Amino acid sequence: MSLHQRFALTPVINAAGTFTPLGVSRSSLAIREASAQALGEFLMVEELQQRASAAIAGWSGAEAGAVVHCVAGAITMAVAAAIAGEDAASIARLPDAGERPSRVVLPAGHAVDYGHPIVQDIRLAGGVPVLAGDDDACSIDQLEQALAGDDVACLLLVSSRLVRGAVVDLSAAVAAAHRRGVPAFIDGAAQDMRLPALLGTGADLVLASGQKYLASPTAGLVAGNTQWVRALRAQERGIGRAMKPTKEAIVGLLAAIDERRGLDAAQWASEQARKTADFVERCAGLPGILAESRPDPSGMPISRAHLRVTPAVAGTDATRLAAALADGSPSIRVMAHRLADEEIVLELVPLEPAEIEAIITRLEALLARRG
Ligand SMILES: *Cc1c(COP(=O)(O)O)cnc(C)c1O
Repeated sequence: MSLHQRFALTPVINAAGTFTPLGVSRSSLAIREASAQALGEFLMVEELQQRASAAIAGWSGAEAGAVVHCVAGAITMAVAAAIAGEDAASIARLPDAGERPSRVVLPAGHAVDYGHPIVQDIRLAGGVPVLAGDDDACSIDQLEQALAGDDVACLLLVSSRLVRGAVVDLSAAVAAAHRRGVPAFIDGAAQDMRLPALLGTGADLVLASGQKYLASPTAGLVAGNTQWVRALRAQERGIGRAMKPTKEAIVGLLAAIDERRGLDAAQWASEQARKTADFVERCAGLPGILAESRPDPSGMPISRAHLRVTPAVAGTDATRLAAALADGSPSIRVMAHRLADEEIVLELVPLEPAEIEAIITRLEALLARRG
């Protein structure tokens, strides 16, 4: 009996990307089996962490690595590390930072909301978020000004399609933090395929989700230099207790990294591009729809299908069309961030051919049925 039958769950076709409320990603059989095996065993979690550190380092080129429960937890623990370091008394007192430097600087456009506001991850560690620049832009000069003073704990940067305004040069931002003697951390939650590039900015820690494109169980993967990985792990005896990784997540993540290292990245990227191109071609005949393939704006090697809706011809608008897709069975979920601009965006990466076929059939039915 399927999970959907057993628990009376709505069947879903997820074209909305690595979206947490829909189950984020699909793990391969090898990853699922690795996690299932871990659930039946006693083992030394510290040894698992050491194996994970070596695997993350070997894969990403970082000096060291660690696993925490998720990226939200990793952000909080990285900020805690910047505030409390490895001092046991300070670690035990957080989120009360006492007299220790606690301002956490981030470009205003990087104060994203990925289901909750990222500045809350900072506050949970006792950090005080300080936004530099505004939503349109943050210059390196503005960043330097915000980083001035001896009460700054760290610089936090986000690399994702959620950021707003002009692109901030991450390498220049990291260099500015280092000129001030402050560590720089990058939230690259859905950027696991760009980990080496993000580490190349000189960032002290880069944080990525195991459960997004890496498709492991839920895990926050930390890659960076030995000193800051150690300081982050020291928080396990403090507020990090609530953010600990499970044994099955670490083992699943190790399997996912193995799988990723065996992946032919160029071939994978061209398969994804072909999948999107085929879908776009199939949408060409839909009334009132202009379909095109567009690359991920943050540089991940994937493209998405953008369906531009002309309401007068389609007989519906993008918002109503997305709602109709979601209301059917199975529920078809698309990305909603461009609906106000009359655009439906679909990410096809984890979908089977039959699911893509079902999306096309539903679109044909919905657009033909108009008045
Ligand atoms: C998904 C996401 C997160 C949160 O990752 P979790 O592992 O779910 O905690 C943080 N930042 C960004 C930019 C994200 O996209």
